[in-house]
Amino acid sequence: MKSAIAIIGAGPCGLTLARLLHRKNIPFTVYENEESAATLVSSGSLDIRKETGQLALQEAGLYNAFAQKARWEDDRVTFFDSYGELLHRATGEAEDGEDGLKTGGKPEIDRRSLRDILLESIPQNQIVWSHRLTKLSFDGVNSSPVLHFSNGNTVGGFSLVVGTDGAWSKVRAAITSTKPQYAGSTFIETRIQESSLLHKTLTDKIGHGIALFLAGPSRMIIQRQGDNSYRIYFGITAPEHFVGTSMDLNDTQATRDMLLSSFFKGWAEDLRDYIRNAENFRSWPLYQLPTESFGWNSVPGVTLAGDAAHLSLPNGEGVNLAMKDALELVTKIEENGLEHINKAVEEYERDMLKRGKYHIKAGEEMDRLMTHPEGAKAVVKAFAER
Ligand SMILES: Cc1cc2nc3c(=O)[nH]c(=O)nc-3n(C[C@H](O)[C@H](O)[C@H](O)COP(=O)(O)OP(=O)(O)OC[C@H]3O[C@@H](n4cnc5c(N)ncnc54)[C@H](O)[C@@H]3O)c2cc1C
Repeated sequence: MKSAIAIIGAGPCGLTLARLLHRKNIPFTVYENEESAATLVSSGSLDIRKETGQLALQEAGLYNAFAQKARWEDDRVTFFDSYGELLHRATGEAEDGEDGLKTGGKPEIDRRSLRDILLESIPQNQIVWSHRLTKLSFDGVNSSPVLHFSNGNTVGGFSLVVGTDGAWSKVRAAITSTKPQYAGSTFIETRIQESSLLHKTLTDKIGHGIALFLAGPSRMIIQRQGDNSYRIYFGITAPEHFVGTSMDLNDTQATRDMLLSSFFKGWAEDLRDYIRNAENFRSWPLYQLPTESFGWNSVPGVTLAGDAAHLSLPNGEGVNLAMKDALELVTKIEENGLEHINKAVEEYERDMLKRGKYHIKAGEEMDRLMTHPEGAKAVVKAFAER
């Protein structure tokens, strides 16, 4: 059967959308840049929330699989200052559901586990790997969308193309001229494995969940992963191309020295030990879509979801909203029917754009708090005033 819907990108948003369409017997094809499931980005841990991510998984018929893999014990956030003094700890509020499975709260799951649950739930012949979209154009005869891939393939004839191709979406240009803007911060990531001598100090100090050490422009975010290792993000305030021009992450010792002598100077020595032992650095420069120019008029045959639609600074909601978008879009398509798909998209976008703008602003507010000159004290105060 010819696919009605093309999904560009097999991230959490695209795969949730694919699963939900599969459940409704609506034909689709996913086109993904990566060669296979093995090379899909799958690092890090994500907290999955009740009204968004958990709801989408329920509607996808995957909640049981999720609840069994989720780390409910990691639903915990702790704030410290740069001297390592504990200022505040909040533990999750999951409940026991009627069926014996936990529900609610913000349980963590490894991105890889979530990917596997979603991937295994859709027919593999409906995912086309090694297809990087370079451009979306419109057929001159009936104005339907045409996909152009870097391998030279061109495919058309879809009722709808959904761009779930993340921050640097190629579908987005068919709808809006808005582009991601660098937000002034970069995360430099490392990992402390269970075999490291430092691991015990981390289990003693942090244990489960995520810990934020905040001190004005610099911060350390440490998060327990499913294999019991800890992922550390050294958050620095720096120009857009600082990493790559002024900091060479391949030179491990020079990177450590720069972090110690400038960004984390004056921090407690036990925290600086994490830098002294860090290796295999990776950088995440943080981008967002600008709020002032956010929004567009619906374009027939094309829409966006997830980060492609509303890329925000990390605020804990990114993957959750991405999955909620997928659920809302499928609900609208089912309500309106495939023959009125453009009306479905208009209705979906009306709510999604409101959610998206709110989400981007929430990311900005989170970033402002995380880099506040008063450090963790400002965040704890904001929590108390809620
Ligand atoms: C450091 C960091 C930490 C984060 N932590 C959290 C967290 O704890 N909780 C949370 O909710 N969110 C978190 N986020 C945000 C979260 O990762 C994203 O919001 C989420 O992954 C968005 O899902 P998505 O499917 O829309 O996009 P993505 O996950 O980016 O997936 C996009 C997919 O499209 C594919 N693709 C890209 N371009 C093309 C193309 N041209 N052609 C074909 N395929 C393409 C990619 O290979 C990928 O598979 C974090 C983000 C960062 C940077």
